[in-house]
Amino acid sequence: MTRPDDPFERRPDPAGDDGRDWGYGDWDEPARERSPGHGDAARDRDPDVAPDGRGGADPRGGADPRGGADGAASDRAATDGAVDDAASADDHVGADASADDDRPARSTRDATPRPVYVRRRITAVAVAVLLVLGVPVALALGGGDDATSADGPPLLQGPLATAGSLTVDRLERDAAITRFAKLGLPVYCGAGKQPWVALTFDDGPHALSSRFRELLVRERAAVTLFRQGTNIGGHEAEVVAQRDLGWDSGSHTQNHPALASLDAKAQRTEIEAGNRASRGALGRPVRLFRPPYESHDDDTDRIVKDLGMVQVLWNVDTQDALGVSKDRIVEQAKAGLHPGSIILMHETKERTLEALPAIFAEMRRRGLQPVTVSQMLAHDPPSEAQLRKGFDGCLVDVTPGKASS
Ligand SMILES: [Zn+2]
Repeated sequence: MTRPDDPFERRPDPAGDDGRDWGYGDWDEPARERSPGHGDAARDRDPDVAPDGRGGADPRGGADPRGGADGAASDRAATDGAVDDAASADDHVGADASADDDRPARSTRDATPRPVYVRRRITAVAVAVLLVLGVPVALALGGGDDATSADGPPLLQGPLATAGSLTVDRLERDAAITRFAKLGLPVYCGAGKQPWVALTFDDGPHALSSRFRELLVRERAAVTLFRQGTNIGGHEAEVVAQRDLGWDSGSHTQNHPALASLDAKAQRTEIEAGNRASRGALGRPVRLFRPPYESHDDDTDRIVKDLGMVQVLWNVDTQDALGVSKDRIVEQAKAGLHPGSIILMHETKERTLEALPAIFAEMRRRGLQPVTVSQMLAHDPPSEAQLRKGFDGCLVDVTPGKASS
């Protein structure tokens, strides 16, 4: 989709000649807009959602997962093929679940204005004390899904990775995750006050993971990964390599089911098994969670909150899991490249790998920088009012049609 009125057209490339440095650019907040491809039907409001946004049945979490019939099923099949022997005994429930073509209506939570969520920053004194202690505090907190590696140099390559800032950054990221976990509302995007975009990759690790990592390192991009438990076996070294870059690690269940089709007990089993698999490879708890197929209900939300995790969805779907072309992936991403966007992609798709250079080029042209989800939560957090609006709380909503996550 062309964007003749693209407000970014006038922006100089902040990256300079080498095109790899993520410079900060001035950002004129764009008007809220919608993806041209987004169907109105998917945006039906749910009158049953309770004022607190949690009491009513969440139609997004209905029994019908969002998933393309053919594309998603073939996606799962492709992923299955790459799963190592150790995991081969586990069927991907999602393959069957994704055969349902109906996309659940979106829950747009109560739009009643609420007090803006005010983040409580760690005091400078506390930070100074911890810095003096020189302890790998992120690890000590035990909550970081990723942290500055105690085994090697700090390698976080996002825009916040200035010298001496990593420990403070890590503390603030951990604290932000804790705050949002207590809030218990799914996150769809950041505030959009900073020129940041969170690129997220689901369903790994995978045979393509090392190629993704090498490309992302070349692009100096920090990203967030939502891993499927059954895919981790045999790829532990890759997970560690990703961890040591300071990227965010999230869990994506053990077997990739549509959680809302399961009872609460089965959901908890799936989520906890996925967490254990990630923790086993990472050596630390994982605190970000993404439900497959965007399928979650009140049980899911409660369990994720109980586990001290933050449920992370997205406001931009590249549709890469549906088997679309590289050009289509780039087009979708471009439509959603706005401050605060959380972009859904998959670590299992060759075309996604091929699309990334063009996406990064466009980000540089627009003065946008890649950050992890926890960086966004810490330094450009969505307000509680935003969270309660769901997708409508984001600057853009590029989630057309069906997708599998
Ligand atoms: Zn997935």
